[in-house]
Amino acid sequence: MEVRLAETAGFCYGVERAVNTVYEEIEKGTRPIFTYGPIVHNDLVVNELGAKGVRVIKDPDMLRNMSVSGELRGSAVIIRAHGVGRDVTEILDNTEDVVTVDATCPFVKKIHRIVTARHAGGENIIVTGSASHPEVIGILGQIGNQAVVLESTEDAERFCPVPDRHYCVVSQTTFNVQKFQDIVDILKKKIYYVHIVDTICNATQLRQKEALALSRECDAMIVIGGRHSSNTTKLFDICSKECSMTYFIESLQDFTEKLDSSVRCVGITAGASTPKTIIQEVLKYVRDEF
Ligand code: SF4
Repeated sequence: MEVRLAETAGFCYGVERAVNTVYEEIEKGTRPIFTYGPIVHNDLVVNELGAKGVRVIKDPDMLRNMSVSGELRGSAVIIRAHGVGRDVTEILDNTEDVVTVDATCPFVKKIHRIVTARHAGGENIIVTGSASHPEVIGILGQIGNQAVVLESTEDAERFCPVPDRHYCVVSQTTFNVQKFQDIVDILKKKIYYVHIVDTICNATQLRQKEALALSRECDAMIVIGGRHSSNTTKLFDICSKECSMTYFIESLQDFTEKLDSSVRCVGITAGASTPKTIIQEVLKYVRDEF
């Protein structure tokens, strides 16, 4: 049986950089370490870091309380690849004796710069994406939440622009490419002055494209990633539409299926928050067992 691993499977550049940043801080061993939110949407990685003493700050309220109580004194707080809003950086800036280590992905930073400059220039900002996603919360938090979030074409249809206003549209980096295009098409008909910046990350597009191609060519697909990872869920959706034998697993322990003998080719892909070690484990198991 042929086993094909997607070249784009696993950590993207931004996530790898953020996780490495945590390990570098652990190695320094000079300060207690916190991450603002889980560093990746993967419980296994977060638990492993937890065992090394890395603690997670869940939200701005928790951060504020820790700042006031002095609990953060002497520690390092790492900002993950999704980035954060200004409310969070302000709390950290005003906390005594805390080192902020900013591991925001440079592609997300670019969106922060765009919305900040365009908003300051008087444009209204539209973000395509999920309003509850930390990256979108961070983008909105750059401009005091003065932006509209559109998640679907229905949202775009319902949206009423202010007449004669200039608008700028950016996207959550992991948003679906086709959905972005459909929303933009609707907005172009409604808004005269609209500046569109496609900020969808190439890593996501390539991973989705490769997953689609693999799932068309393979008899079975294994998608590895965290249950809370939106990009892994999207990969699963793409693959299961093309390949009825698609499995969503978080680690090898979840893979309890026995692939039947009619399966000639198995494709493996993984979300942006899946570590290499887990992918290799699954790859080895499928190669050895079937
Ligand atoms: Fe950065 Fe792209 Fe990874 Fe998001 S998906 S963290 S933008 S490299």
